[in-house]
Amino acid sequence: MINSVVIVGGGTAGWMTASYLKAAFSDRVQVTLVESEKVSRIGVGEATFSTVRHFFDFLGLDEADWLPKAAGGYKLGIRFENWSIPGEHFYHPFERLRVVDGFSLAEWWLELGDRSKPFDQQCFITTALCDNKRSPRMLDGSLFVAGLDGTLGKSTLAEQRAQFPYAYHFDADKVAEYLAGYATQRGVRRVLDNVTGVEQDERGWITAVRTEASGDLTGDLYIDCTGFRGLLINQAMGASFESFADVLPNNRAVALRVPRENANDMDPYTSAIAMNAGWRWNIPLFRRDGTGYVYSDEFISPEEAEAELRAAVGPAADDVSANHIRMRIGRNDRAWINNCVAIGLSYAFVEPLESTGIFFIQHAIEQLVRHFPDENWDPQLAADFNGRVHRVVEGVKEFLVLHYKGAQREDTPYWKEAKVRKAPDGVLERVATASSHLLDSETIFPHYHGFEQYSWNAMNLGLGIIPEKARPAIRHMDPANARQEFAKLKAEADAMVAALPSCYEYLASIND
Ligand SMILES: Cc1cc2nc3c(=O)[nH]c(=O)nc-3n(C[C@H](O)[C@H](O)[C@H](O)COP(=O)(O)OP(=O)(O)OC[C@H]3O[C@@H](n4cnc5c(N)ncnc54)[C@H](O)[C@@H]3O)c2cc1C
Repeated sequence: MINSVVIVGGGTAGWMTASYLKAAFSDRVQVTLVESEKVSRIGVGEATFSTVRHFFDFLGLDEADWLPKAAGGYKLGIRFENWSIPGEHFYHPFERLRVVDGFSLAEWWLELGDRSKPFDQQCFITTALCDNKRSPRMLDGSLFVAGLDGTLGKSTLAEQRAQFPYAYHFDADKVAEYLAGYATQRGVRRVLDNVTGVEQDERGWITAVRTEASGDLTGDLYIDCTGFRGLLINQAMGASFESFADVLPNNRAVALRVPRENANDMDPYTSAIAMNAGWRWNIPLFRRDGTGYVYSDEFISPEEAEAELRAAVGPAADDVSANHIRMRIGRNDRAWINNCVAIGLSYAFVEPLESTGIFFIQHAIEQLVRHFPDENWDPQLAADFNGRVHRVVEGVKEFLVLHYKGAQREDTPYWKEAKVRKAPDGVLERVATASSHLLDSETIFPHYHGFEQYSWNAMNLGLGIIPEKARPAIRHMDPANARQEFAKLKAEADAMVAALPSCYEYLASIND
């Protein structure tokens, strides 16, 4: 049996992995986590995917308990600003498109909708909640989408059936500490020390990690959560890193933690605002915003990026120091080699657009539990695991490239270059298809990568890749049901905006 695991690294990846292993295997697997006080966590990673809800449910954690401890807020979707037309915005929400008589509401919008207004305002309820800064929960705690709350239970990404309507924003350091408390209470041994290297046997399998003051730490399975440095997977196991710079050139970020003057003025969404040489995120936490500029240093220097960011944020950030971060964009050829598995930034990262870092971690942990080895170390388990985590990253990479290919702005060298830049195989074909008709599950990246066809269509239509007409079949159909659905959606949106408290108001009620 494999019954002892050593995790190196105590960032979001390390503590999420330790907590999940305890929730899944309890005391049948011993877990030691070693983290350095000399090497700090990356300190960003504050927006999530709606599927993260499965993670916290699996751990049996109650949102009303953990979210306030992480200074958290709600995220109903991402608001894209200035990607195509200056001053305009659209949302990529956590809301699937409704289906009427076999076609999505977006398809019906192409036939019946008001094209002078953005598609998202007519096809989603969430858009109205975002514009009006509503909470997805009533003051009594009930969810605006009735009946969903109780159905998730202890499920995994693979078992997800319903689209949960929101994700979270949180302070990544506070979440790591919260999960550290959860894991150590359940028996995880926490070692504060610096790992200086590993011992390997003649086959290249790890037999121990060496520390400065705590001696050798030994286990059966070693998990590398050391972030971009890849202390075990790259430096010891020799995984080769495949850069995505040719298709996703952003390689740096500069981040600020900005106090929010009016705490009540809290957005229930992440903003992704196009800038001269990249884009800027804004992530509202309970009392402050996290903001940062993601850019390519081929087009702008770190000093210029910081100045452009500060100019956009205004005086609220005058007394705040900036965190400059180099990003390693790409993935290793393998996440699992011999008895070492890399999870988190040590395996892969594709820049923060669409907030997929924590999603990759969650997906990898779930797959590790599913493919957990025994003493025979069946190589097929590792191969399957590697294939799955690889495909998730590749699918997200394609989806992100689509954002840059679809963006209509061409006003700076950065945005001009985005139009002619290389794209992964298949992306340009998908853009061409999307100009003719909406994409379906067979015309998006075919393997699981977290984004469904509605996401691809929401991005294309928002960015301005809009078919001239609906599919011809629609014109042979009675539009009465679709008209009724549009009217119903509008009425539901108005009713929800009137009934729901503001995002801040609800969060204040659980922060007391
Ligand atoms: C600019 C930017 C923005 C991002 N935004 C988002 C977002 O909005 N949403 C999202 O989901 N993801 C985001 N991410 C990704 C997210 O931050 C990471 O996926 C997440 O924080 C996990 O990081 P990690 O735990 O892998 O690494 P880290 O946080 O870097 O942790 C590494 C750990 O390893 C330890 N360590 C290192 N060396 C040693 C050693 N020798 N001995 C012992 N311990 C050691 C460190 O002490 C630390 O505990 C973003 C990333 C970047 C760069």
